[in-house]
Amino acid sequence: MRKLDSKTIIVASHNAGKIAEINDLIGPMGFTAKSAKELNLAEPDETGTTYEENARIKALASAMASGLPALSDDSGLAIDALDGAPGVYTANWAEREDGGRDFAWAMEKVERALEEKGALAPDQRKGRFVSVLCLAWPDGHTETFRGEVEGEIVWPPRGTAGFGYDPIFKPEGYETTFGEMTAEEKHGWRPGDAEALSHRARAFKLLVETGLTL
Ligand code: IMP
Repeated sequence: MRKLDSKTIIVASHNAGKIAEINDLIGPMGFTAKSAKELNLAEPDETGTTYEENARIKALASAMASGLPALSDDSGLAIDALDGAPGVYTANWAEREDGGRDFAWAMEKVERALEEKGALAPDQRKGRFVSVLCLAWPDGHTETFRGEVEGEIVWPPRGTAGFGYDPIFKPEGYETTFGEMTAEEKHGWRPGDAEALSHRARAFKLLVETGLTL
């Protein structure tokens, strides 16, 4: 991977939950993070049809606007019984007509869609969270890293930690949802740790293992 020659990285996001998690991940690496939200950078339209395309669009927009390397995340929840939906459109399922986002309502939509399919037993409610991280340089160079975590959709929602769809996602091998986990349990990972749990932490582990250095 190309060497980073800047101690400052732009976190190419306006999503407070994602920004907090990415800050937790890059903090121990010795970088200073500034988000696109705090720099008032424009939010580009996510016109891609894959996580990779949308991650590139977001990272390049922030890198070019700031002149600094930028790290984006494009992520989503892919549910097998719904043929992979909501997938790249996971954020859109939460969008209200006034442009705001309502995740309690989005989680209900997921539950209703599963019930319509008759998917009530745990093994009919399997899916995964996917995260594609993209590091972009102001000259247009990009590198992408994908992380996934398998799990099942539970109802009703459990826990108030995290963000988005965390309260209905129970990762495989755990009894608690992401909404019931501490930040450390969900996405705590430091260089040298053997395992990462969340999709975002797994993508970040790959990024670091590919050679992110100052
Ligand atoms: P986008 O990457 O901005 O297109 O949106 C990703 C969508 O997936 C958002 O609606 C998030 O709430 C949801 N999402 C992504 N990662 C997570 C996570 O770690 N927990 C809960 N929801 C997530």
